[in-house]
Amino acid sequence: MTKYIFVSGGVISGVGKGVATASIGRILKEYGFSVTAVKIDPYINCDAGTMRPTEHGEVWVTEDGGEIDQDLGNYERFLEHPILKSNAITTGQVYKELIDKERRGDFLGETVSFIPHVPDEIKKRIVAAGKGYDICLVEIGGVIGDYENIPFLFAAKSLELELGVENVCHVMVTYMPIPGHIDEMKTKPTQLAIKMLRENGIQPDFILCRGKLPLDNIRKKKIERYSNVQPGHVISAPDVVGDETANTIYVVPLNFEKDELGSKLMNKLKLEKRKEPEWDAWSEMVRRTTKPSRYVDIAIVGKYLEVGNFQLTDSYLSVSAALSHAGAANDVGINIHWISSKKIENGEVDFSKYDGILVPGGFGSSGVEGKIAAVQYARENDIPYLGLCYGLQMAVIEFARNVCGLDANTTEVDKDVVHKIVDILPEQANVKSKGGTMRLGSYQALLKETSGIAKIYGGNKVSERHRHRYEVNPEYHEALEENGLIISGKSPDGKLAEFIEIPNKKFFFATQSHPEFKSCPMKPAPMFDAFIKSML
Ligand code: GLN
Repeated sequence: MTKYIFVSGGVISGVGKGVATASIGRILKEYGFSVTAVKIDPYINCDAGTMRPTEHGEVWVTEDGGEIDQDLGNYERFLEHPILKSNAITTGQVYKELIDKERRGDFLGETVSFIPHVPDEIKKRIVAAGKGYDICLVEIGGVIGDYENIPFLFAAKSLELELGVENVCHVMVTYMPIPGHIDEMKTKPTQLAIKMLRENGIQPDFILCRGKLPLDNIRKKKIERYSNVQPGHVISAPDVVGDETANTIYVVPLNFEKDELGSKLMNKLKLEKRKEPEWDAWSEMVRRTTKPSRYVDIAIVGKYLEVGNFQLTDSYLSVSAALSHAGAANDVGINIHWISSKKIENGEVDFSKYDGILVPGGFGSSGVEGKIAAVQYARENDIPYLGLCYGLQMAVIEFARNVCGLDANTTEVDKDVVHKIVDILPEQANVKSKGGTMRLGSYQALLKETSGIAKIYGGNKVSERHRHRYEVNPEYHEALEENGLIISGKSPDGKLAEFIEIPNKKFFFATQSHPEFKSCPMKPAPMFDAFIKSML
């Protein structure tokens, strides 16, 4: 029987529920259980695909083509197996399903009401996602006290009643502020968050206390007493990002294990461990991530970088994660330099100080000329270049313009350009509705036997995830190849350019796919690994 662990958040958003959920999953996996994780996003959107990356962070793409909240990415990175789109539940999906059913007549004669229909639909989805696994983690997005959370908390409680308390566990991740003017860690916001959780009928079994500093014993006891949880079930989870000795989220499961969170969770869920955890390789990966032998400097050229006074690099979370994984594999630290493509257009960027240049995915016309200029610099000065999706399209446009001498562009930017080097995919030409309609998810590519990319992957058949509407125009494949660009990977029907490379360079590769989505901390994506190796 599947056991469920609900993870909710108290006090503030961005408290690290996603990393906590993923870390708990990893810990239980280490004890020999099969684990999956579900993310609940209480918004009306059916998925994250149409949301603004600067507000919501990166859109994560699943194997089966879901456009999902980035937390699913952390689950995959920690659990090292694909999490499918049905593991992302939103309010929009739940209501859409109910309304569609009602219109079809599935409820004929019945009044369709908030209770029981909404929580029942939520439970059905959670149970379907957990099927076949020993443990299913369910992260409830947002903060306790949000109006939007209520149906999901109701469903969690109701599932507990159905399955019994030994099969359902509630973890609350909360935040302990240290206001500057008193310089003391305050527990009151957490006490209030617990009270609000209880108002929904839920008694937390564990409280994970995030904060700038570790939680001291006095405060631990205070929260234990206030919330009526067992001694030892209030766990300190101090910030790791910003702490140089532990500056990676991958240290979080190790930290939780110092408090024996794994065995405490198993106790609560009446589970016996199936094997001894093996943390050696994981700890070595953490060591290499935090204290590498050397560093490289990589410029990531993007547009979703600045919002007001803050740089929101979350829009490219999987790209920086994949670089960090490849760095760890090579015992190299990665200094990422986030370069706004608009600054390149204004001539404000000196690329000579970077060991590598990466152009990640993107949409629309803003900042495109800056990205093309970055590719040109990389190609002309033989700086390792990695292009991802839009980064491939930019590389091809640059090559068409500056090597083939064509007046070239993508029709995404200029519909009337003379040479439509990058053009809309035929099946996308008449797509009107924006949600979930791109070429999405995993597609296979066949690689040229003797190409650099086949060497990198160690084989000639690969499958990576996609999210795009445009492609390199097949009418120009020949002209590009005659001028020295190699289209080294194509879709199995031979039509779509999936990988390109320029030979006799330190590293000049690009792909129409997003290999960053399949990178795991101990199994880096091959293209990222080779990109880093080319700088050493
Ligand atoms: N805008 C480009 C397209 O739709 C690239 C998309 C991307 O980089 N994910 O094809």
